[in-house]
Formats: sequence, structure tokens, C-alpha cells
Amino acid sequence: MGKNTSIYLDYNATTPTDPRVLDYMLPYYKDKFGNAASFHHKFGQEAKKAVEDSRKILASELNGKIREIVFTSGATESINLAIKGLCGKIGRKKNHIITQTTEHKAVLDTCNAMKNKGWEVTMLPVDPEGFVNPDDVLASLKNETILVAIMHANNEIGTVQPITDIGHICREHGIYFLVDAAQSFGKLSIDVQKMNIDLLAASAHKIYGPKGIGILYVNQKNPRISLQLQIDGGSHERGFRSGTLPVPLIAGFGEAVRIAEEDRDVENEHLLHLRDKLIDEIKAAHPDVELNGSRKKRLTNNVNICFPGVDAETLIMKMKSVACSTGSACSSANLEPSHVLKAIGQRNEMAHSAIRFSLGRFTTEDEIDRAIEIINKTVTAIKKTSPRHKLLSV
Ligand SMILES: *Cc1c(COP(=O)(O)O)cnc(C)c1O
Repeated sequence: MGKNTSIYLDYNATTPTDPRVLDYMLPYYKDKFGNAASFHHKFGQEAKKAVEDSRKILASELNGKIREIVFTSGATESINLAIKGLCGKIGRKKNHIITQTTEHKAVLDTCNAMKNKGWEVTMLPVDPEGFVNPDDVLASLKNETILVAIMHANNEIGTVQPITDIGHICREHGIYFLVDAAQSFGKLSIDVQKMNIDLLAASAHKIYGPKGIGILYVNQKNPRISLQLQIDGGSHERGFRSGTLPVPLIAGFGEAVRIAEEDRDVENEHLLHLRDKLIDEIKAAHPDVELNGSRKKRLTNNVNICFPGVDAETLIMKMKSVACSTGSACSSANLEPSHVLKAIGQRNEMAHSAIRFSLGRFTTEDEIDRAIEIINKTVTAIKKTSPRHKLLSV
């Protein structure tokens, strides 16, 4: 890439579709365009095979069973199906849900929707690095608790939650455990059996697959989970989710996961090196910056930094060639500081100075070197002119 091209550092928002994935998808738009439910002819059978090949890869990635994978339009839909579907099925006799403050809006808003219908929702706090304490989960269990929903990796600050410990507690007490794995699926290894996960949401577009396809993993053995249908129709996906399957997207999702699995170790090592270089070089130039989240138990591609006295919006506007975001992509449009940064105890002023840089498969060392130079220069320039910063530094 040339000197003037933009540097994409927003991989936690979405990723480009890997060219290998796109190549794999194309035949399913052209010659192999059949409906996977048309079992009488070759077109349908080819489509069905592509769907089942993909389902097998996804199941194996999670150490789940093939029949436990339900295709949806993305993690948001999967989370809605999991929470509303489970509560709808079980009913009001078990009307207590436990979740935590730094979840994605897909979980928070769905829990709120249940709250409006009369369910009780416990919001667990997190520590200053964004971790949920498993003891808090244990302490908040009640006879009425139906579900614990805790994300695997946070989309804003990259914190990786103690999922195994929480899963163990849930299983011991016979409570369903939902994990939003949109940021970790394909990047970290996940074993639904070892981790005692009953429901898990993931999405293709965060791991170099196409947009508009996701899965919900639904445990079918000890316990076997049934969900109330959220979309009525032809009872596709074993009755969990109706609608004609988007075969090219499903094929692409499988291929994306196959590649992610194959390249995982090399890719994580590459990302870790670039991520740490970015953090260290910004810190070296501006020792007052604060890294949000944990340095150790963190996604290898996530950097989230507060630049005290610097307005993040201004910084982003001035760094036109670095594509990054303030807080999460979803809250970029509103002026409320990020709920995640608030939850880890950052004051409003600090939260408004936070920027997320997220790296990915196609990020090069040269891009990181250029980004470091641009970021450091721009921060210096803003500090020189900002009356807010002058006030802070006297
Ligand atoms: C992106 C994301 C989602 C939403 O996924 P979609 O597939 O875009 O609906 C949910 N949770 C987390 C943590 C995410 O990063």
C-alpha cells in the first residue's frame, strides 16, 4: 500500500472478507445456487452439502455436535434468540437473569427487553481491568435464576473473561450459560464441553467472513435446550430458526473458520508483536497515557488507550489516514461516554479521551510504524493547542 492510503485499525468493528473466503463463496452465487431445502435435485443437494460441510467445521471449532449449530444472521440475532427464546420457553417461574456491565448492547438491550416484560436482571460489576469475579456470579444466584450471560472477550477493551470458572459454577447449579463469543470465536480456542457453555453466539464478519451470517450454538445434551422460535416459518434449522439458508454466506463462514483455525498461532503471535509495539511506542512518547483493560488477558489485536487532556473525537478527525474508533463502533455516533469505560471506573473526561485501535490479519509492521508516527505527532500537536491540557498539566 502507498504512503497516502488509510491504515485500517478497526478490525474489532469488522474485518474485510478474506479473498480466499470470497473465492470459496462465489460458486454458490453462480452455478451452485440451489436452495438447501430442495432435496429432490442436484442443485439443492449441492447447496445442502455446502451448508453441512460448514456446520461440521463450526461444530468442530467449538468441540460441539453438528446438530448443535444453528445458523442466524449474526451474533445480535443469536443473542436475541438465546435470551428471548430461553425465557420464552421456560416461562416466568424462573425469571432471573445474571449478566454484567461491559456486555455488548446486543446482550444489554435484550436483557432490558426481558426486564420490561417482568424478568429480574442482575448487572454484575467489573474490576478496573474489566474482569467479572466468578465469586460474584456465585453470590448472585437465586432459585429463580435461569440464565447467566457473560461475554468471552470484550469488543472495546479486549478483556478476556474467566469463562471456564463461570461455566463451572453455572453447571454445578443447573443454570444455563450463554457466552457472546463474537470477538473470540476463531481467535481463541473454545471448547463448549470443557467450558460448560450451553449457548454461544458468534459472527463471521469479525473473522474475515462475510457480513450477515452468524451462529448460535445450542447444547443438545445434558442439558438439552429448547428455545421458543423467534421467527415463524418453515421450521428450518431443526425448528430453531426459520428462513431459507444463505448458502454462500454459510459456506464462507465455514471457510473463514477453517483458515482462522489453521493460521491461529502464527497470526496471534504476529498480532501480539504489533499490538505491544503500538502500546509501547505510544507510551514512550506520551507517558501519561493509560491502557484500558488488562495487558495480559487481552485479545491479541486490541489496543484501547486514554490520552489525558485530549478529546478523542478531535484526535480521530485530525488523523484522517488512521481508521480507528472511540469506544465501540456502535456508540461512535452518540456523545455519551462508553458504558465499558464507565464500568471500569474511568471518569467522563478520561472516557472522552479514549481511542480503540484494533489490528488484524492484513495489518503490516510498516502500517504500525506509520500509525505510531501519526498518532504521536497528532497527540503532541493537540496538547500544544489544547487549553484543557494546559490546565491539566499545571
Ligand atoms: C460485533 C459484536 C456483536 C454483534 O455481532 P453482529 O454479528 O454484528 O450482530 C455482538 N457482541 C460483540 C462482543 C461484538 O463484538
